[in-house]
Amino acid sequence: MSAQPPVPPHRCGGEFALIEWIRRRVGSHPRLEVGIGDDAAVLCWPEPERMLVAVDMLVEGVHFDLQQATPEQVGRKALAVNLSDIAAMAGRPVAAVVSLALPRGQDEELGQRLHEGLVGLAEATDVALAGGDTTATDGPLVLSVTVIGAPLPGGPVLRSGARPGDRLLVTGCLGQSRHRHHLEFTPRLAEAGALLDSGGLHALIDISDGLAADLYHVLAESGVGARLRAEDIPLREPEPGREHSPDGRTALAHAISDGEDFELLAAVEPGAAAELIAAPPFATPLADIGEIVEGNSAELLMPDGRIVPLPPLGYEHQLD
Ligand code: ADP
Ligand code: MG
Repeated sequence: MSAQPPVPPHRCGGEFALIEWIRRRVGSHPRLEVGIGDDAAVLCWPEPERMLVAVDMLVEGVHFDLQQATPEQVGRKALAVNLSDIAAMAGRPVAAVVSLALPRGQDEELGQRLHEGLVGLAEATDVALAGGDTTATDGPLVLSVTVIGAPLPGGPVLRSGARPGDRLLVTGCLGQSRHRHHLEFTPRLAEAGALLDSGGLHALIDISDGLAADLYHVLAESGVGARLRAEDIPLREPEPGREHSPDGRTALAHAISDGEDFELLAAVEPGAAAELIAAPPFATPLADIGEIVEGNSAELLMPDGRIVPLPPLGYEHQLD
């Protein structure tokens, strides 16, 4: 009878089997000289000297709830939020590593399903899954993904480059996270590249905290102000008879204040912006929602002609 090797206290019994499953599921990748299975990965890096690094951690009960989302969706999202950050630098993702804390007592199927969602998106975006770390925990499920990438030629594009006169462009439509969009969104990698190719991209951010909050990140970093036109902010079409959501807030309030849309907000030189709007280089909607001005704050032109201040948070009362 052969005795099982003792399982160290920070390991769970199925961990080695899970890593073996992940290793088989991930397979090989041309950029990975050594992938999962050794003490560290060996990555071929023929890129320019600068490297983009982004990390994001999702904690059960804080960022997700397995009653509301499948493990595959959670795993996919953990990678997708990082890809959105790489897009927002005008970069392309190259490789990712994963840290996973699995609640003790969970079978390895949960780990497999998390990785299934994550690996599916990695394959779709040509990201090499280079390795990770897996541990058992008495606390909640924690999933942290780190993505490294390369700036596209002409990038990276920072939050700090907006100038008065720039147009503010936004991809997609806003206020969608309440429609489960945050579990299914497509990181705007191709769109970021096309915006960069316009030659006039001055500043870029992904909308993760909400349009107003993320606009203020650009304004603060660039030392400028902004004027938005409410009528031009792209809203998700309300369902008929549901112009107000159950909480009584308008679609405009959701679009401005809700986080997790993961669309891009770009400050673009006016000539290049006009060309982009006249002939968008991608199928994703692209809207001109206002302009960068001198100053340090934002205001919003309402459909009735009123101009209201747009604070970074807590403006719902003025809008509804
Ligand atoms: P070490 O004790 O050297 O940290 P591990 O047993 O943690 O080794 O990991 C073994 C291999 O499996 C490593 O190549 C590591 O990158 C990979 N790995 C561990 N956990 C994961 C995971 N959740 N996703 C992808 N790769 C993983
Ligand atoms: Mg380890």
